[in-house]
Amino acid sequence: MQLSVELDPTSVRTETPQDGPPVPRFDEGRVCEVAGCWTVLSVYNDGERCWSHRPMERVTPLRNHRR
Ligand SMILES: [Zn+2]
Repeated sequence: MQLSVELDPTSVRTETPQDGPPVPRFDEGRVCEVAGCWTVLSVYNDGERCWSHRPMERVTPLRNHRR
């Protein structure tokens, strides 16, 4: 038995997703709001302070998403 693998060009579409996976990002170049601290915040840091100046209770676990 022989299978035909011919593809109809009109039925093959190459779709390039415009948007990648949704990764929350924030402005680059932000610095910690604590006076005298010029630690540049990560674009993944959703707070106003660097990690060392963030209160512990405000630290959100990264893997806390449940669906
Ligand atoms: Zn800081």
